[in-house]
Amino acid sequence: MSQPLDLECKDLVKMFDDFAAVDEVSLQVPQGSFFSILGPSGCGKTTLLRMLAGFQEPTSGTLNIKGESMLGVPPNKRPVNMVFQHLALFPMMNVAENIAYGLKRRKVSSSEIDRRVKDVLERVSLPGSGSKTIDQLSGGQKQRIAIARSLVLEPTLLLLDEPLGALDLKLREHMKIELKQLQAQVGTTFVYITHDQSEALVMSDHVAVMDKGKFEQIGTPQDLYYHPQTAFVAGFVGEANRWTGVVQSISGDEAMISLDEGGEIAAHAANKGRFDVGARVELFVRPEAITIERSKTEANHARFEEGQNTFIGNVANLLFDGANSRVEVVDRQSEHKILVTLPQTGAFSDLARGEQVRLVWNIDKTRAYPRRPDIGAG
Ligand code: ATP
Repeated sequence: MSQPLDLECKDLVKMFDDFAAVDEVSLQVPQGSFFSILGPSGCGKTTLLRMLAGFQEPTSGTLNIKGESMLGVPPNKRPVNMVFQHLALFPMMNVAENIAYGLKRRKVSSSEIDRRVKDVLERVSLPGSGSKTIDQLSGGQKQRIAIARSLVLEPTLLLLDEPLGALDLKLREHMKIELKQLQAQVGTTFVYITHDQSEALVMSDHVAVMDKGKFEQIGTPQDLYYHPQTAFVAGFVGEANRWTGVVQSISGDEAMISLDEGGEIAAHAANKGRFDVGARVELFVRPEAITIERSKTEANHARFEEGQNTFIGNVANLLFDGANSRVEVVDRQSEHKILVTLPQTGAFSDLARGEQVRLVWNIDKTRAYPRRPDIGAG
């Protein structure tokens, strides 16, 4: 049986004069799930979140929380709470007073407040810290208190506006995992906005990838990574090597593409309904889908041979990244660079800069999409 929906929007639009900041967005968020809206700066995610919170009225479309329309319902009457990047904890109040603030405004009795504050502090794994001052807390603890302060009001939806953005890198890595665990533990539906694809992939059950006011794709992190449906998603989610070119022929599931920088490779025509012979396309290949062979004799080039794509080039950079090696290989003629990630301890741990190598990858790892009109060459 599928979970009931805590949030459902259909064709939601927000116009600022004649500019559509949010452009016909539809989404469904099941109860108890972690849903992220991922996109670059200016794509409209804050505007969308503000509509969910009630700080901004949609121009058109529907917005239901737990099956009830929220159109015209003011923020304080919605079963929603928001956690901001700057947390907005009150420095003059201790932890318990911060958490109790919203309950006091709702005129909850003091014995009930004490019980709920104690309970929520346990739920965010900070029992007994009610009498601490805010400046006695670490960055991660402040984060949990900010979330506790929202959770204590028992919202249907917790909206999180880039809450990890102000933390340093190490704490952010730690908090990603902690926030995901916290959400699973408390069971509240989280709607999280971020421009950081690794945050979205690690934490979410479902992610909506947004660009220019529109949703490009909604899916599980695995769907987005392994089956991106648009060039934007293929390039924005995870790392990818990219080429541009023109479709020369299509046969069955394969399309032959002549590359703008020279050479020809084949792509899986998963999207063949969306382009024809002569179409301009963008191609994407994940760095971990490529294998390296040593090659001493041939000139640099990209080529389709023996049923596989190949690229002969020279090692331009070797970057050690903990468990993996990151190898950048350049075609000296076109100057096109390809990134390959390899397990650190593989047969190629002794690669040298400048060494000529042959890269090989499968056609079905090469995804082709119609070229976006406003994007430059590869
Ligand atoms: P960021 O990650 O930088 O916060 P975002 O994805 O949250 O970006 P929004 O803040 O939603 O993007 O803005 C989307 C677009 O709408 C931007 O082009 C922005 O300039 C525009 N915009 C946002 N609010 C208003 C407003 N009140 N009036 C006019 N334009 C606005």
